[in-house]
Amino acid sequence: MPFSLAKTIGLTKVGTVFRTSLLARAFAGGFVATHIPIIALMAYVATGADVNAGAVLLVALLATVLGTGIAFLVMHHLVAPIGFLAKDLRRYRQEGTLPALTKTRADDIGRLTDEIRDLIGALEDRMARLRRQAFSDSLTGLGNRRWLSENAATEIARAKRDRRPLSVIAFDLDHFKRVNDEYGHETGDEVLIAVAEAAKPVLRPYDLLARIGGEEFCAVLPATDQRGAHLIAERLRSEIAAIALASLAGHRITASFGVHEAQLQTQRFRDMLRQADQRLYEAKRAGRNRVHPDRSATHALLAGSPVRS
Ligand code: GH3
Ligand code: MG
Ligand code: MG
Repeated sequence: MPFSLAKTIGLTKVGTVFRTSLLARAFAGGFVATHIPIIALMAYVATGADVNAGAVLLVALLATVLGTGIAFLVMHHLVAPIGFLAKDLRRYRQEGTLPALTKTRADDIGRLTDEIRDLIGALEDRMARLRRQAFSDSLTGLGNRRWLSENAATEIARAKRDRRPLSVIAFDLDHFKRVNDEYGHETGDEVLIAVAEAAKPVLRPYDLLARIGGEEFCAVLPATDQRGAHLIAERLRSEIAAIALASLAGHRITASFGVHEAQLQTQRFRDMLRQADQRLYEAKRAGRNRVHPDRSATHALLAGSPVRS
């Protein structure tokens, strides 16, 4: 059988070497190219044609040109992918464009391409994990202050472009130190998680919610004016007050809220947050478990304006 014969004389093994070894392929290409002149001359002599110096020189010259051309094509085929690979990697480093790096061959360059693709995949995974860690709060799973600042900037730009309001709510748990002192730090952690879970359903999918400090949270509400934000803050307040944890043995959690509708033309996010924070501390001073500014103070002024769209 031809198959077993090829196996017997080791052709399969030779084929594999030529498929997988760049050195063997370069050697084979060079060997063929350099032997073309002598093969051509032998063939010429074998035809029985007139052997004179001019004809021999002409055949040798043509065969050398042919051999050189073949050598160039073989080398180009073997080496050019390294240049493409380098170009792709430079673009990835400079612009972050992921190279396709599809495997086209089984030789050393194919294996190098595979290794680089796997390395880039692993690097991307690791970076995504680090990015997630850098932007999220591991306890509650909410975004952290850095995440909020970045995403708020996008929402602020959108609100300016669409000429729509945007409001910020800052809230802080009341007397949380006592919760830790009386029920333990673990229960305190449980409370923080429960607060995050209670707050999420109150907000729309495109509102931003973050834990920006120990027991301080912040929500950024696009397309929401002061009155709408006040209603949301009241709902958050009552959802938090309704949290009943077995480990709290009947003790209820409360929070104080500061609400601020952004002045989009003049304020950056940190100014908005500072304003909301000031309102929050007014709420603390006024007795906690409340939203500031007090709605009765702003209601008359804002009556009739859109609330939330
Ligand atoms: P106020 O009503 O004025 O806000 O009083 P407070 O006790 O809530 O505020 P204070 O700033 O005095 O204390 C905040 C407490 O929050 C102290 C700190 O131990 C606790 N805390 C901060 N981060 C965490 C956390 O990740 N887990 C737990 N369990 N407690 C935390
Ligand atoms: Mg507090
Ligand atoms: Mg605090």
